[in-house]
Amino acid sequence: MYKIPLFDLNFDEKEEQAALETIQSKWISTGPKTAAFEAKFAGMLSVKHAIALSNCTVSLHLALKLVGVEAGDEVICPSLTFVATVNAIRYVNAVPVFGDVVSYENPTISAEDIRKKITPKTKAIIVMHYGGFACDMDTIMAIAKEHDLKVIEDACHGPLAEYKRRKLGTIGDVGCFSFFSNKNISTGEGGMLITNNDDYAARTKLLRSHGMTSMSYERAKGHSTAYDVVELGYNYRMDDIHSSIGIVQLDKIQADLEKRAEVRTAYLNALNDVSGIIIPFADYTDFNSNYIFPIVLTDGDAERRDAIRAQLAEAGIQTSMHYPAVHHFSIYQEFASELPVTDFLVDHLITLPMYSKLTVEQVNYISETLKKLI
Ligand SMILES: *Cc1c(COP(=O)(O)O)cnc(C)c1O
Repeated sequence: MYKIPLFDLNFDEKEEQAALETIQSKWISTGPKTAAFEAKFAGMLSVKHAIALSNCTVSLHLALKLVGVEAGDEVICPSLTFVATVNAIRYVNAVPVFGDVVSYENPTISAEDIRKKITPKTKAIIVMHYGGFACDMDTIMAIAKEHDLKVIEDACHGPLAEYKRRKLGTIGDVGCFSFFSNKNISTGEGGMLITNNDDYAARTKLLRSHGMTSMSYERAKGHSTAYDVVELGYNYRMDDIHSSIGIVQLDKIQADLEKRAEVRTAYLNALNDVSGIIIPFADYTDFNSNYIFPIVLTDGDAERRDAIRAQLAEAGIQTSMHYPAVHHFSIYQEFASELPVTDFLVDHLITLPMYSKLTVEQVNYISETLKKLI
């Protein structure tokens, strides 16, 4: 329907072949492919443990359990994020305390606002690296240390992206990734939890599989014949069909991100001197995943933004908006606080198409169309 979609999968016959081989191997649930995917992911991110899970939402849930967040504890998080970041806090009956973002140029959670929102009940901070652009981790980790808080990184947008030469997801206590179809790495559904903490890793393996001390694959291999259930766990496993696709995606990710960086440069060249728009992170220099390409309109209101999006759609260009503010959703209004920068952004953000196969011609077409509308 759209001439230019918001996102396009980086799939070819290799993903098909990998899934087919796994199906033909007859071991399709969690097993050797999942172990290989985890080892490869951990290696690429230089982290001790990577544990594959069914999606990132459950990864965030387990992360909160690992760091000891309990009912009534407060967790500081952004409102400008996908709702799953915050839903996970509710799964453990903790209280989300929304922090505002830094600025229109930097829509990641503000360290200064985090500091203001700490109370004796605060237990943890969840940061979200918006678009794969890093939060101010030096300051946030220093605040966490000072107040004895745990830090969970929602790094869904940033596989392989860096902050001062460190990979996103490896800086806090636990990092969480998603392999949903429209993410940088796509397996359909899928997620990963990474950590350098041995105890967290062992507990994640228990919790992802009902709290059982062994998994079916180990029993099928004769490595164990019985199991105990030592903690109330879940079924949060990733299976070998998804994992085998993930392995192929990992082979492609570096080249994919380099292509995306070229797409970003093309956008920056085309939109640089257009008045009426701000390009967030315009001066960012760390290696980035370019999960999305957001722009911020400086004028008008949500109605004008929606009208521009509708006209882009008429020109065959699919856009999106990352994200509607979580504190405006019905179930989160009771947790709402004053978030002026977030409130401005949710009325003025537009996400333009971004994927590695996007051509310079397409970027120029999108940019020219947008310029005329502004
Ligand atoms: C996609 C996404 C999630 C949820 O990931 P799932 O794998 O779909 O559960 C959470 N947080 C952010 C920032 C995301 O982009």
